[in-house]
Amino acid sequence: MRGSWVTTFAVGGVILLLTLFLGLQYNWLRQAGEAERERMHRRADADARNFADDLNREVQAALFNFQTDPASWARSDWAEFNERYAYWKGNTQYPDLIRGFVFFGKDSARPLRYDAAIGAFTVAEIPSNIISLELKLKDPANVKTFYEDEFALVLPVHKPERAVENILIRRSAAEPVKFDLPAKIGILVILLDKDVVTGRILPDLARKHFPEGDFRVSVTGGKGEGVFANSALNGEPDATAAMFDLTPDKMMFIRQGALRSPKQAGEKQDIVINQRIESQTFTRSETGPEGEKKQTFTVTSQPRKVDVAIGEPKSRTSVVGMKLQPDGPWTLGVQHIAGSIDAFSANEFRKYFVIGSGIYLLLVGAIVAIVLSAMRSKRFAQRQIDFVSSVSHEFRTPLAVIYSASENLADGIANDSEQVARYGSLIKGEGRKLSVMVEQILQFAGARSGKRKYNFAPADVNDVVLAAVGACGPILEEKGIQVDAFVADGLPKLNLDTEAISAALQNLISNSVKYGNGSNWLRVAAENGGGSVKLSVEDRGIGIAADDMKHIFEPFYRARGVVDAQIHGNGLGLALVKEIAEAHGGKIRVDSKIGKGSKFTIELPMPGTSA
Ligand code: ADP
Repeated sequence: MRGSWVTTFAVGGVILLLTLFLGLQYNWLRQAGEAERERMHRRADADARNFADDLNREVQAALFNFQTDPASWARSDWAEFNERYAYWKGNTQYPDLIRGFVFFGKDSARPLRYDAAIGAFTVAEIPSNIISLELKLKDPANVKTFYEDEFALVLPVHKPERAVENILIRRSAAEPVKFDLPAKIGILVILLDKDVVTGRILPDLARKHFPEGDFRVSVTGGKGEGVFANSALNGEPDATAAMFDLTPDKMMFIRQGALRSPKQAGEKQDIVINQRIESQTFTRSETGPEGEKKQTFTVTSQPRKVDVAIGEPKSRTSVVGMKLQPDGPWTLGVQHIAGSIDAFSANEFRKYFVIGSGIYLLLVGAIVAIVLSAMRSKRFAQRQIDFVSSVSHEFRTPLAVIYSASENLADGIANDSEQVARYGSLIKGEGRKLSVMVEQILQFAGARSGKRKYNFAPADVNDVVLAAVGACGPILEEKGIQVDAFVADGLPKLNLDTEAISAALQNLISNSVKYGNGSNWLRVAAENGGGSVKLSVEDRGIGIAADDMKHIFEPFYRARGVVDAQIHGNGLGLALVKEIAEAHGGKIRVDSKIGKGSKFTIELPMPGTSA
């Protein structure tokens, strides 16, 4: 009793610990999932930004590369422009991104178009939408840097001034330009090829920044129309970034020196931009001729309020003034293929938690199975002990009878032949009981070890039933029981081990006699069960309690009531009957009511069916 408490406590403790671990694992998974979700969001943001920056850099390089000496426009001297164009083509991965140039000179009546064959701007036919662009450019309040419909970049060219030579001005529309820009010489329009952007640059960038294919990438134009998608987004994107963004913050190429013409590469760098451009701190130094004093100053201002003049005073003479739109007209959207990063993290969390819970259930299941099996083994061991004691008990009575009968014979107490015959039949009867018991135990042992061989042959059920009832004749007579035997007409021959089936029926009959509670009614029947033949033995004896009914076919099991009532037995008979029924492809059933009687039925399959 004490042992079982300890076991219950130990098992309960282990299950409690496992449940605690499951709870901890849940918490840990949630925290890890949250951290991973944030990391993925940061990564998606950074990848989207880098993706957009790559395109922005490409576009910005195409724009700012063409700041040439304003005087060259007046002189129609295209040498510097050609040199810059060649320089750009040599440095870009997409030389056909620019499909042409148009220059609207302030003083010339007709626009000029760049002729690549001769390397010069000439008066020529201009695409009609670009002519209309000139009208848009006439309104200085609305001049933009990038015109999406025309797919063109616009670079106003101003007269040079001594103090500032390159000017990049960013302004929000609300803020007026603080600098008085030098007078405008004209406007250079750089025509871009949209197909190169959508057909080559964007797919290349999608492959470069999202190589694992775990994100959908889509780019929408200024009017919300799709311009590129490797896979259509489904709902809100996880990260977005502005494209064709020409704000100074994004002009990394200035820092990298790509703007400077190759001629100045060896010269002392006089533009220093803080590595983190976002800090909006720029340092400019001006260096005079050899020996002259140096002047260095810093311009620091709040983000988004920057008017910056960056210059290479000695070498550059061009002036560019422009308003840059705060964000690009195109928007990049990226979305995890699971629908969103949040959905993906939730799925991952669920997946790992299900695995964790599965392992938990497996462990708890294993523990419960081990405990149940230990309990079963314990019960089984107890039953074996009961079996040994009840078998010894069973053996003791016949042995005692045999012993005293034979002693009387040996001592010559029985001197007339009638007495000798009585003792003889007593010894014979008890000897038979002993051999039946031994036979049953051997059969059980044989069945358990799988050594028992069955000899199947087509047999008449009628014969088997009658043989079994006949074999039980002595015990039936002893109790004065009249058997009501019934065999239905037309039962087919079955493939049987007649000896085994007869032994099974004898077992059932002798149980009905043993547990008959003085009743002298017994019915043995063979009937057609539709697909099977039903052999049944029915009595009006003590009946079986529902709790016991679950166990009576287990070896060594005996109902507590019959043990207490000291009805002899070893608990093997029904286990053997079940074994025999199953060896024939059949099964055994019991219907019983305590105090009313029991009916055991062996169902044997008819040829061509299975029970
Ligand atoms: P044994 O009869 O030797 O105890 P069995 O395996 O034949 O072993 O039966 C197992 C138990 O099933 C019996 O101990 C008894 O409790 C119950 N039992 C079997 N047959 C009957 C019956 N006809 N009526 C009431 N109880 C029965």
